[in-house]
Amino acid sequence: AVVARKPRVSNAVAAARRLPVGVRKRALRVVVTGGAGFVGSHLVDKLLARGDSVIVVDNFFTGRKENVARHLGNPRFELIRHDVVEPILLEVDQIYHLACPASPVHYKFNPIKTIKTNVMGTLNMLGLAKRVGARFLLTSTSEVYGDPLEHPQKESYWGHVNPIGVRSCYDEGKRTAETLTMDYHRGAGVEVRIARIFNTYGPRMCLDDGRVISNFVAQALRKQPMTVYGDGKQTRSFQYVSDLVDGLVTLMESKYVGPFNLGNPGEFTMLELAELVKETIDPSASVEFKPNTADDPHMRKPDISKAKSLLNWEPKVSLKQGLPRMVSDFQKRILDEK
Ligand code: NAD
Ligand code: UDP
Ligand code: UDP
Repeated sequence: AVVARKPRVSNAVAAARRLPVGVRKRALRVVVTGGAGFVGSHLVDKLLARGDSVIVVDNFFTGRKENVARHLGNPRFELIRHDVVEPILLEVDQIYHLACPASPVHYKFNPIKTIKTNVMGTLNMLGLAKRVGARFLLTSTSEVYGDPLEHPQKESYWGHVNPIGVRSCYDEGKRTAETLTMDYHRGAGVEVRIARIFNTYGPRMCLDDGRVISNFVAQALRKQPMTVYGDGKQTRSFQYVSDLVDGLVTLMESKYVGPFNLGNPGEFTMLELAELVKETIDPSASVEFKPNTADDPHMRKPDISKAKSLLNWEPKVSLKQGLPRMVSDFQKRILDEK
């Protein structure tokens, strides 16, 4: 494992770290880019609950103000509408860099914007981290492994990625973001952390963001057939959002750069997922087959032994336990639509 070198910690972080765990003289000032999105808003809840001051930077492309609305009166919370492709000056101790659409439907909507967000957005946030001596965490993705030839995927696997395909703006974008992160670490002494996130689900996902789990749940609730792309035998591993957020904070506070896979190793075919959604929501729900999209990875499952042994982290919520929590949130929002 790579241990962070040349620590350049700001005074507040250094002061906070000298104190025993749980006792902080001064709250950390934390930026969450993409904090109005699905994962970001859950992370913001956790950081505010532990006493940090949080600035969300978000352009609201896929994020929504409602996701963080409950914090708007909190003096430790600030919401800035800003596009990370443009530079920004802030004084902070930590940067969680999440800004980037995550659903294939969203990131393919404007691929040039997606790659600019990944490259220029990450460069700007690393420039900010360098200027103020903040610790920087990149939310990378299992997509850096592409359509993997190794199964399950370990962090040491370099991936099998099409550089000129329709998914490249996202997967090559994130690979470049990882490269930038490591170059600012080695070249400019920035303290960095890299998380490779596997498919994550939970409350506050966009209802129509096109990802399989949100599609199936919304379709079953609306009494529409669940759309299975291809033969439905491709696999994914689904992680509940609270497990991911715990992993991100644990990684940020650890001494390890990573990369670390953060995901739930439970592996399901899309047909198995449809069956589980059917059992959870509506035994009469049906399935409709549709052609698959280009470059769709055939299988995906994280090997999380590195995070287990070094971060002492592993997911706690199974798909069977997590799915009903997401269903109640979707049910409420679908009713509100009417
Ligand atoms: P999301 O789309 O809900 O959130 C992304 C947020 O970033 C949104 O609030 C959006 O408005 C904001 N954003 C996008 N482009 C921006 C820009 N140029 N400037 C400022 N803000 C911008 O997605 P999510 O599921 O919450 O994903 C968060 C991060 O985690 C992303 O970086 C994503 O790549 C990564 N990730 C997520 C998953 C997953 O399954 N959810 C898997 C792998 C990686
Ligand atoms: N940057 C930023 N906020 C800062 C510092 C830098 O947005 O507080 C941007 C800056 O505009 C630049 C990028 O981050 O485009 C990289 O910064 P760095 O200082 O590494 O590069 P340089 O400015 O020397 O090209
Ligand atoms: N998928 C599906 N039906 C849908 C949406 C997606 O069968 O309505 C499939 C898709 O082809 C892929 C898997 O589900 O094999 C996961 O897709 P998703 O967009 O959720 O995320 P990805 O892991 O591809 O980024």
